[in-house]
Amino acid sequence: MRQAELLLRGAVVVSAEAARPLDLAIRGGRIAWLGEPGTGPTCGEVMDLSGLTLLPGLIDGHVHFREPGGHAHKGTYLSESRAAAAGGVTSVLTMPNTVPFCGTREVLAAVRAAAAGRCHVDYGLHFGVTADNLPELIAVDNVPAFKIYMNETTGISSPLCDEALLARLLALGHPVAAHAEGETLDFLLAMHRRYGTGPLYVVHVALAHEVAALRAAKAAGQWVYGEVTPHHLFLDQRDAARLGPFGDMRPTLKKPSDVAALWEALADGTLDTIATDHAPHLRSEKAAASPPPGVAGLQTMLPLLLDAVAAGRLSLRQVVRLTSRNPALIFGLRDKGELRVGAAADLVAVDPHVRETIRDTDQLTQPGWTPFDGRTVVGRVELTWLRGQLIYRSGEVLGEPQGREIPTRSPGG
Ligand SMILES: [Zn+2]
Repeated sequence: MRQAELLLRGAVVVSAEAARPLDLAIRGGRIAWLGEPGTGPTCGEVMDLSGLTLLPGLIDGHVHFREPGGHAHKGTYLSESRAAAAGGVTSVLTMPNTVPFCGTREVLAAVRAAAAGRCHVDYGLHFGVTADNLPELIAVDNVPAFKIYMNETTGISSPLCDEALLARLLALGHPVAAHAEGETLDFLLAMHRRYGTGPLYVVHVALAHEVAALRAAKAAGQWVYGEVTPHHLFLDQRDAARLGPFGDMRPTLKKPSDVAALWEALADGTLDTIATDHAPHLRSEKAAASPPPGVAGLQTMLPLLLDAVAAGRLSLRQVVRLTSRNPALIFGLRDKGELRVGAAADLVAVDPHVRETIRDTDQLTQPGWTPFDGRTVVGRVELTWLRGQLIYRSGEVLGEPQGREIPTRSPGG
């Protein structure tokens, strides 16, 4: 083979199937070679990763970057993507509840303009459903999913639960990502059973009841996926009481029995992805009279999951499935989510043994706080590469933003 640019040597490499010592070579932003230690091609540069574990960069299918427009003070593509790089997240899919709402091609163009050249990681843009934007849904291009809000949350005052609208939306066949809590999820699953021709992706599953509904839908052969957030896995109602507005999000934190059901659902495959629902709000907004719901999560997701691995609650292979391979498959991100020859060299190297305390002062997000402040975890992100370029090293985001919009599916086919 031709000479590669960079050889990563000495790490344990984790895929969805296996974890073992392998060397990895990169050329032209892609994985050029993967093989037994010490047998790799000659490379211009060699990095020794002994003691570290190498995973595919994480794909976070659910984040809120607050551009364009009215909420940009909360966090921008520039600020929040720095937290992503520091958290080992190399792809983000952003949600449409911006101000203005991203449910027209005109606003989508403005989101694309806001992100271009200002994002440290690659990105895809979910497109929002409104009561009357069917022509836009049919005409829009390159959006991983249509997002429908069926309960109130930040920027959403009129949730959509109209049967005729759901029937039309679900029959389009494009992936639909839905915010549907509790009994609203039961209704949505019934609508999908009746009208759905494409996949339904249920965001932030939080209740034992929702887990049971999703499990039953899957058992009945419905094309449905479930997502869970780190805060619903690692916090519960007792934390909500302690944190006040800083532990308030939609869905709210639940009972320990609900949290236990989420962990069971990770183990039995009822839940398919872990995504942050990264929703930055300033400290001053959280301390004000009517605090908005939502917390940041991009920088803390992987350390929390590594800690769960250290505690024996998850395997690294499961982490790769839930945070890389599955979101890539569900959202049609062809070059992402796997460590294989030809795939994008989106990588994260972690130290799975080091013990560290999560601190507000280390957070690179615009708001600079996390509900996990003070929690000690085992596992730390050391290095992050985006398409072969090192974008994060030991506390520092490197270089100018190189993130690009990820090619995915268009509703027209
Ligand atoms: Zn969200």
